[in-house]
Parts: sequence; structure tokens; C-alpha cells
Amino acid sequence: MSDERTIHRKAKAYRWEGVDELPYKKDDRALYKSITRQVLFSDPEMQGELRYFEVAPGGFSTLERHQHMHAVLILRGRGHCLVGDAVRPIDTRDLVTVPPMAWHQFRATKGEPLGFLCMVNATRDKPQLPTPEDLSKLAANAEIAAFLRNEPKA
Ligand code: MN
Repeated sequence: MSDERTIHRKAKAYRWEGVDELPYKKDDRALYKSITRQVLFSDPEMQGELRYFEVAPGGFSTLERHQHMHAVLILRGRGHCLVGDAVRPIDTRDLVTVPPMAWHQFRATKGEPLGFLCMVNATRDKPQLPTPEDLSKLAANAEIAAFLRNEPKA
């Protein structure tokens, strides 16, 4: 059976036919850098959505937390991620989950873009941003502080 909800979109270099490349978020505080968003699957019949994010070399996603979870598959490139209180190197095809209320951020290495698929609940709470107090708590961990300065150890 085929109807207007049937999707087959050809891919070309991490862009998909008929999928808009969207600004990442509307926020003037510049808490993120050089990142685009494509919504690949979003249908009222589904409880989840699949998005593709691409972070330009040296860029990063917003540092945030929320009740909903993320399931992330790194599709291209590499970099580091912060999830909770752990900084980890990430590489193409790695899988990362972000548990409820864990602070998280994805950073691309300097030489290449970092692209990842991110699965989320269709209905989800709004992300919380860190207060200055949250930030100083996070930065008390030397590894996290280096990550936030974009100087992760190798
Ligand atoms: Mn998030």
C-alpha cells in the first residue's frame, strides 16, 4: 500500500530530497555554533521523530538537559560528547544515549563535520539551559572544563 505518507527520499551527501535544512534553534544567546537540522521522519502516527544534525568543524550543539531522552547514531565525522558527567570521544557509527536530565553537548573535531541522527519522542519537554551556577558546577570537573573550552584531551 502506498499513500502520501509513504516516503522514499534519495540522499545526496547528507542531504535528503524534499527535506528542508533548518536553522538549529531560534536563540540569540549563541549557545551553539555552526549546526543545521533536518527532520527526516515526523508523522502524527508515530511517537518518535528522527532528525539529522550536522555540526561544522569546530562547532557544537547547545549544552542542555531535559526529561526526554535522545538516542544518537554518529553518521559522519568525529568529535567529543558530554553526557552527564562524562566526556567521551565519538566516532562514525558510534551510538550514544542521553538519559533524562543529563547535561549533554556534542562537539565536532576541527578537521571535519560531525553528523548524527537523533531519535526523540514526538511529544517532549522543552530543553533547560545551564545557569551560571550549573556551569561552574560542571566546570569543577577538569575534563568537562577542557571540553567546554573546546580543548578535549585526545
Ligand atoms: Mn537535547
